[in-house]
Amino acid sequence: MDSLLKHMVDMTGHRDHTMLDISVISAVQELARASQARVLTLATVRGKVFVRARAIVVAGEPACMVDNTDLHNPGEPIENFPALAHCIAQHESGADVANDAGEHTLWLPIWLGDKADTCLEIVNPTPYTSDTIHIIGGIVSVYRNFQNLLDYSERDSLTGLLNRKTFDDQLSKMLAASIEQDSVTLPGEPERRQHGDEEKQWLAVVDVDHFKHVNDRFGHLYGDEVLILIANLLTSSFRAQDRVFRFGGEEFVVLLRSTTLDNAKKIIERFRQNVASHDFPQVGKVTVSVGFVSISALEAPVIILGHADQALYYAKSHGRNLVCHYDELLSGGLLQTTASNDTAEFF
Ligand code: GH3
Ligand code: MG
Ligand code: MG
Repeated sequence: MDSLLKHMVDMTGHRDHTMLDISVISAVQELARASQARVLTLATVRGKVFVRARAIVVAGEPACMVDNTDLHNPGEPIENFPALAHCIAQHESGADVANDAGEHTLWLPIWLGDKADTCLEIVNPTPYTSDTIHIIGGIVSVYRNFQNLLDYSERDSLTGLLNRKTFDDQLSKMLAASIEQDSVTLPGEPERRQHGDEEKQWLAVVDVDHFKHVNDRFGHLYGDEVLILIANLLTSSFRAQDRVFRFGGEEFVVLLRSTTLDNAKKIIERFRQNVASHDFPQVGKVTVSVGFVSISALEAPVIILGHADQALYYAKSHGRNLVCHYDELLSGGLLQTTASNDTAEFF
């Protein structure tokens, strides 16, 4: 019982999905004396469900995250795990299957409404006792509730998009990962060549044009409706691996992962056009302006955002309904670099 309490305290002490995953598999592995436990992501790509591990623990070893940096690999098709596929299709609470060697695998999808994006997988050399199943069931319930709570604290209540705080966390993580991958040129090293076809991370700042007019003419409720519809257009225009945030008011930020300049431009431009051609009920036409920049691990988040903002304001002062790239404006002599000092960076 002490051990169960210790795990419960550990699981509910985290404010981060990654650490929550690590603590839940550590708990179920130890309490079920399992040989292995994993947290699996069930991702839907073009209507097909794929299974990919995101954390694993093997008996006697510490739990760890699984490297998922290869964004082009969605994982294994769920059909490779027939019992799991059947369990998901039938909305069942779990599946327990023994292989020829007598090893038992227990799958426990984490249902949120009628969707399960996460599943626990526990492998045991012997069948599970009813006590073990009971304890694991309790842990799964705590995990599900806590994941729900984390999701809620990460999102904006009007649009359902990720919020500003989550943006700060994810940009910091993205920068830390870029430094780790050593994909940057360190001071003193020769500059890497800049190819248009080099894959990078990108940050785009989106601001609705003349949004005050929408509020003034139609009222705040219609203004809110426009923000919700633009949030939907953002989600449908960007790719599954990109992250869309409501930065505040009628400003949004998108982190585009691993793509070339040409692709980033195409994706952002597609979004701009999707907004411009959308018929907003009652309001009619609404447009957005966008400034974007490549993310360099050598620059502070506030500098990267500042550059995207400069490009955005260039778009605002040159007709709006435009997408502008900071580096392009800079190399064309259309923008000046701002001298940075500590006070300016702080603000
Ligand atoms: P610009 O093209 O220069 O961006 O013009 P703008 O009118 O959009 O100017 P600005 O960005 O200064 O105005 C933003 C307005 O958005 C002001 C504020 O009242 C409104 N706003 C901010 N948050 C919300 C919200 O949650 N709901 C609604 N309805 N309006 C909001
Ligand atoms: Mg604004
Ligand atoms: Mg605006």
